[in-house]
Amino acid sequence: MSVRVRCKVCGEIATIQDSVVASGELKKLYCTCNNPECGMGFSLNLEFDRVLSPSALLMPPELRDKFARMNRKQQQELFSKLA
Ligand SMILES: [Zn+2]
Repeated sequence: MSVRVRCKVCGEIATIQDSVVASGELKKLYCTCNNPECGMGFSLNLEFDRVLSPSALLMPPELRDKFARMNRKQQQELFSKLA
């Protein structure tokens, strides 16, 4: 599934033209509506929220293999205990 940015006025899909780091993990996305009759330009804020499942790259290799054999629910339960 992918997420598309839509224009707030006409509902048409917009294109992200540029992004700039505003501060820390906050990015500003600069968008333009693809509807030629609208053409509104706007910015959105994009910010990291939280980790829902940990990166395998941050685990010791022996734990990574064990974790890979767990189903998604088991992984989330384990991670919720660590958080
Ligand atoms: Zn529009």
